Amino acid sequence: MLKKWLVTTKNLFFPAVCLACGKKIKQDYLCSSCKKKIKILKAPTCYTQLKINHNNNKEILTVLSSCLYKEPLKNLIHSFKYKRNPYLAEFFSRFMLKQLKVIKFNPQNYDFVVPVPLHRYKIKARGYNQAELLARPLAKYFQLPLKDDIIISKYIKNSQTKLSSRKRKENVQGKFIVRKNLKNQNIILVDDVLTTGATISTCWQALSEKGANKIYSTTLAK
Ligand SMILES: [Zn+2]
Repeated sequence: MLKKWLVTTKNLFFPAVCLACGKKIKQDYLCSSCKKKIKILKAPTCYTQLKINHNNNKEILTVLSSCLYKEPLKNLIHSFKYKRNPYLAEFFSRFMLKQLKVIKFNPQNYDFVVPVPLHRYKIKARGYNQAELLARPLAKYFQLPLKDDIIISKYIKNSQTKLSSRKRKENVQGKFIVRKNLKNQNIILVDDVLTTGATISTCWQALSEKGANKIYSTTLAK
């Protein structure tokens, strides 16, 4: 089923050269040797366990990641996020779908897919929310609705990238607002890169506080 979906996806854009080494290629984004350099994470390293304080209880949030955040993937993700290359989502989502298949993820009982939100100012500047572009093919594959309007991001002044782990946590506290009651809803939460886990944990907490039952978190890289 995975293969069928990839083949039948229409209107794909291919750059004609390997985006890492510049070698001429057909119908892909990286040449085969650069593609081999992308490190696919295997169990148990594909899982990250994050400690969360939730309703005065300590809980463990497990996040599944597909690849290691290093070259040549790192530069591709940078170009996806900051250089208006939304078409790369198709390439990246292949890794995410493969990983979900490898771990035998069962989408049954999940109600919808939610991307980690980006503030509307950032979406305006960037042209899109990269997490949403990654979540879309996953939702399509699992035949689940994609909901990009139930959780929104409030404006934050500081960029996360240059902050320490503790500062990141402080920076994202109360950053997300969930606009719907999610009682008994099971959600697949998607983001691009897992760094300290502050963003995805805060998102998880916001969804849980609105009653979400089960939340499966997955990222492209870590
Ligand atoms: Zn190459």
